[in-house]
This record gives sequence, structure tokens and C-alpha cells, in this order.
Amino acid sequence: MRKQSSKEKIRQFFLANIGNVVSSIEIRDAAGSDVSEWARRVRELREDEGWPILTNNDNAGLKPGQYLLKEAPPKRSAVSFSRNISAKLRAEVLDRNGFTCQMCGLTPGNIDPATGRLVRLHIGHIVDKSMGGKEELSNLRALCSTCNQGAKNITTMRPSTIWLLSQIRRAGQEEQRAVLDWLRKKFKE
Ligand SMILES: [Zn+2]
Repeated sequence: MRKQSSKEKIRQFFLANIGNVVSSIEIRDAAGSDVSEWARRVRELREDEGWPILTNNDNAGLKPGQYLLKEAPPKRSAVSFSRNISAKLRAEVLDRNGFTCQMCGLTPGNIDPATGRLVRLHIGHIVDKSMGGKEELSNLRALCSTCNQGAKNITTMRPSTIWLLSQIRRAGQEEQRAVLDWLRKKFKE
């Protein structure tokens, strides 16, 4: 049998402890590796694979060195890896998409209301790789972390003009003015 990698061991350890607070010492023992190694693996699970692992930075109930896998992580096939997308292709996608999440419309600099954190953009596949989607410009789009994890319940259809106008009419004066300011800046009038 192939020896399990430390990442696989950490994966199994967290899966066996969904909903339980675990300590850095327990993770280290499970991984059988030094601190820089397992900390990096935990970060990869969070950032690359979208595992909802909380730390004391996310949850005031946790102490430093405590971790909590809140719920079952997304299936691996549901996560798009952007590792092998070249920097050039990545830049092209971001530029084409105006540095805006193509599902929820948030942009870096915004705070994501779903997480309370600054928005980070990822490159996601339109047709998933597991379904034969290719790693090319036409099949890639910018998504924020939350949408990339499939965590926002938003339709992929683009909002229509009528819908947009109806939402703006419903908004307060201050919000309407903010939209106007944003449009003026965007179209430099
Ligand atoms: Zn989004």
C-alpha cells in the first residue's frame, strides 16, 4: 500500500472530526509532520479546496491553535483548481471579467457579506473539469471564494435590465446615488 501523504492524513483526521474543535497538537500528531508542513496543508485545504475549517480568526469561540471543520467539505470534483492555469491566462480571464465575480458581482475591495472577509477572486471553470471542461479562456471565469465553493445560492443567469432597474428603484436614495457614482466612474462621464 502506498504511504499516505501528510495532507491525506490531515484530510482524514478532519473528516473524522467534523463539528469537533481540534488542537494544533492533535493535527500535528495526525499528520506526523512539523509545524510549517501541517499548517501549509491546512491552509491548502481551506484556500484551494474550500474546506470550511475555522480558526480563532474566524470564530471568537475558538482559541489560538484550535481548529474546527464546521461541516462536510465540498466534494473534490466540485472544486476547480487553478494551479495549472498560467498567469497569463489567469490575467486574461480577470481582465475580461472586469475583476468581478461573475456570479454575485462582488469585486476585490468589497467585504463579502457572506463571510465578513475581503473578497478574493479565483478562476473557476464554467463546465467543470470532471465534465470535460477545458482549461481555456472560453471555459473560465472569475469567481469569489464563496461562489467558487458553490456556497452562494445565486443563479448563473445574468440579471436583465428590467430586473436591475427594478432593484435600483426599490433601493434607498443613498444606495441609488452610490450606483450612480459607480456608473459615472465606470463610464467616465
Ligand atoms: Zn461571488
